[in-house]
Amino acid sequence: MPTVRSEKGGVITADSTRSRGENIDILPMGEVDRSPFDYLALGLRIRFGRRVEFLPDQPLPEEAFDRTRGQWLARELLRSIKPRPSTWRTLAVVGVDLFAPGLTFVFGEADPTGRRAIFSIDRLRPERAGEPADRELLLGRCLKEAVHEVGHTISLGHCRDRFCVMRFSNSLADTDLKRDNFCGRCRRLVARGTAGLAGTAAAPRR
Ligand SMILES: [Zn+2]
Ligand SMILES: [Zn+2]
Repeated sequence: MPTVRSEKGGVITADSTRSRGENIDILPMGEVDRSPFDYLALGLRIRFGRRVEFLPDQPLPEEAFDRTRGQWLARELLRSIKPRPSTWRTLAVVGVDLFAPGLTFVFGEADPTGRRAIFSIDRLRPERAGEPADRELLLGRCLKEAVHEVGHTISLGHCRDRFCVMRFSNSLADTDLKRDNFCGRCRRLVARGTAGLAGTAAAPRR
């Protein structure tokens, strides 16, 4: 059984005998910048010990668009994701601005019972905040957001360790401070999650 050593030194087992049903599917929705995809796939594979596959594009469902706000309702987009029966988790990636009721915006959202999660590249782009383009920074932010949301789908809540990827991000400053990997405590929970524990929390998480 081959193992993959994450950069913090933790070992996650990557079992090459896993069935097809153990994949993480990445689903591009609408027009989305695919340049971070290969980096995302590698990072997710290492952290969760899963094969990563890319699904064909799916259009954004119009009913999720709020014309008054000019934003897309994350919960509605999540609901439109129909995971393949054979897959472990489905992660949608969008390029539009997401929101949730009561919040100005959200970076992403996860449905812990539905094995699906979503995040947007939009607010992770430095240019959006008037900063110069920075590809490495963008890749790092995308991976943190992706790992965070998939983490929620295996019942991980928010972590108090400010460097842990499961720390809640209220702003990009929070995102940039944390690492793209789990703290020791969360990593142990992930190891249990990858052993097949299903999510139990019903409410969506961000
Ligand atoms: Zn943690
Ligand atoms: Zn969260």
